[in-house]
Amino acid sequence: MTKQVVVIPGDGVGPEVTGAAVDILKGLPVDLDFSTYPAGDKLKKETGKALPDETLQAATEADAVLLGAVGNTAAEVVIRLRQELDTFVNLRPTKAFSGVDCINPNTDLVIVRENTECLYSGIEHDLSDNVTTATRVITKRASERIARYAFDYARAEGRSRVTAIHKNNVLPVTGNRFLDTVEEVSEEYEGEVEYEDLLVDATAMYIVMDPERFDVIVTTNLFGDILSDEAAGLVGGLGLSPSANIGDDHGIFEPVHGTAPDIAGENVANPTAAILSVGYMLKFLGYPELATELETAVDETIAAGQTTLDLGGDLSTTEMGQAVLERTDYE
Ligand code: ATP
Repeated sequence: MTKQVVVIPGDGVGPEVTGAAVDILKGLPVDLDFSTYPAGDKLKKETGKALPDETLQAATEADAVLLGAVGNTAAEVVIRLRQELDTFVNLRPTKAFSGVDCINPNTDLVIVRENTECLYSGIEHDLSDNVTTATRVITKRASERIARYAFDYARAEGRSRVTAIHKNNVLPVTGNRFLDTVEEVSEEYEGEVEYEDLLVDATAMYIVMDPERFDVIVTTNLFGDILSDEAAGLVGGLGLSPSANIGDDHGIFEPVHGTAPDIAGENVANPTAAILSVGYMLKFLGYPELATELETAVDETIAAGQTTLDLGGDLSTTEMGQAVLERTDYE
């Protein structure tokens, strides 16, 4: 049966990189139907609303959503979509590419970030001229489902260790609710997947000094957001970093980078992050072999130096997308 994909190109380089990714999907033997819907900063300026009801409705009814990038309206668009579609996992892999300068070429880790609560629950108060607060919400339910996802993912992908990242020495109530829950879940996987925990500040250092010590990281929303950008920096920057937001019924796939206003409209943005994101979409939609093939094609394209300017090449966004497609067996 044809699967429906809603594309929300957004602002800045979003339309360029999602365009390249969709062209690739159209060149693969997959039964997908695409429809494009607006959202983002430009739309808000024009209409007063960053995420129209029709876009939200289409995203809710789709089999998968491909999102480009939005700038200042991220909370209204990205966070809202994640919450409405209950995509409780934010999956952010970081792998070194051969041919790209990298601090440690053996880096290969995946961050499984809880995507619905923590300091991103939207509970902020302006109490007085002097005092503002934000509430960190950590529930057992969300901690349990993210932990289970991380361990299942490790097992399915043949990864050996899950590391839970926290700050329970300073945030004992919320920190221990998360940590105790992950530990409980870890017991179900004893003998199959190793388990350890680590403080977030130490983790920030080890990601730079010894990224090989990590395999699958599971953590709360804010820590996951920051650590995954740090990890992206290790292997060549945001243009290479994909992400997948996954729930029981929905998937939203988006490059980690933002709108990159400094290079927008010039067809020079690196489409790799968007292309690898649709690789995750293919897996989610039931095409795991094609997903692997696409990932290999990206690796080969980069290793051959067929890249955009940010990686030292001279291809445009569109040309790099085509180069990847040509390296699959289907072009
Ligand atoms: P936003 O406000 O939307 O987050 P930003 O510029 O603050 O935008 P990013 O869009 O993530 O944040 O960009 C950070 C830097 O990385 C910029 O210099 C940008 O040009 C570069 N960059 C981001 N995405 C890409 C890409 N796909 N290809 C090449 N460079 C990129």
